[in-house]
This record gives sequence, C-alpha cells and structure tokens, in this order.
Amino acid sequence: MQKNRGTEIIFGLIFAVSAISGYLAYRYHQYITEPVTIRICNANESEVNLINQKLEQMTSGARGEVDIIFVVEKLSPNNSGQCMKNAKLDFCTIVIERHSLGGGTIWHEVFHAHFLSLPEKAKREWRAMLGRPDYIGDAWDKENLAAFPHDGLISPYGRKNIDEDVATWGEAIHNHLNDQLSWLRLPFDKQNPIYPQILAWFLKWDFINQKQHDRVNEIFN
Ligand SMILES: [Zn+2]
Repeated sequence: MQKNRGTEIIFGLIFAVSAISGYLAYRYHQYITEPVTIRICNANESEVNLINQKLEQMTSGARGEVDIIFVVEKLSPNNSGQCMKNAKLDFCTIVIERHSLGGGTIWHEVFHAHFLSLPEKAKREWRAMLGRPDYIGDAWDKENLAAFPHDGLISPYGRKNIDEDVATWGEAIHNHLNDQLSWLRLPFDKQNPIYPQILAWFLKWDFINQKQHDRVNEIFN
C-alpha cells in the first residue's frame, strides 16, 4: 500500500513536471538561426512558423538586434507593433498584435531595431540623400494617402520622423519581395533617381542583401 502510494506520488510528479514544461514550451518557443537567437513568446506553433518565415528573409545584421518578440492580443489603438530598445542591455524587444503577424509589421519593427543600432553616419547619409528634415510628426490627417508615394516618401506615417521613414520603406521593400498586398507600396516613378539611391542605402547598411536589392531595383530600371 505504502509502495503504491509512493509510485503514485512519483508518477504524479512526473506528470506535473511534463505538463508544466509542455506549457512553457508552448509559451516560449525559440527561434534559432546562428548567429541570431530570438525568443518568441505567447505564439502557437503556426504563428511561430509564420514569424520565422518572415525573419528568415531578413539579414542576420537586422535580426541580430532583436532579443524577444512578444505576441499580444491588443497593443494600443494606433499601433499594431512596437520596438523598444533596452539601452543598458543593448537589445530590442518587439511587441506585436496577433492579427498583424501575417502582414509587414514584423519587418517594420525589426528594421526599427536595426536602425537604432546604426551609427550616426547612417542617419546623416539618409537625411543628406533625401534632403529632409521635413519630418512633421504624425501626418495622417495632414496628407492625402492617395498621393503617396511621392518624393521618396512611402506613406504619411513615414513623414513622422526618420525612424518611421526608414521602417516604412523597409516594410514596403519586403511587401514587394513577397507580393504582399498592402497600402505600403513601392514607388514606380522611374524618373526620380532618389529611389535607386534609397535602395543602395538599404543594401549598404545591411537591411537587405544583394539579391533582394537587385530584385527590387528591377522596378526602377
Ligand atoms: Zn514604426
């Protein structure tokens, strides 16, 4: 009797431990591609696959700045994703709404992380190339969406600041590479030399690889 009880307790413990570790494995998947490891939290198997599929298209330089991706149900009314940099630990945390996983938000947020890690020189080059600083804060209500893209700007949101300018561009590049339908689309104004220059900047600073650069560049030639 005593012995049976002991066995029951042991089996009970084994069951509890395996249930807890199963739960944790579900909550806390790991995405591992050397040399980059990104932890993905609160996503199910197919969501993790979807996230990985999008991450794999990015350079390891861009992915390398991200430590954790948290999937949440709701973020805030005007935000489907967010990238936060921990200055002390020098890595970024991305929070993304579950319903946005199929779109370009992950690329957008990873590019934020990468841009935050770049030296001032990259930012100076971007500003010099585009002749901005006419960033005007949130421009959704000040601009006509149908007029975009124009003058190297992808969307009114890119007008907000240099970070959103770069991230909306990067998102549009990946939307194009994936034939993803989006209001964030690439410009087709072949006369304007600014577009190949922007693309060259993305290649130089390791946002995209040579193959991606060449594929997108086709539409400007
Ligand atoms: Zn953004």
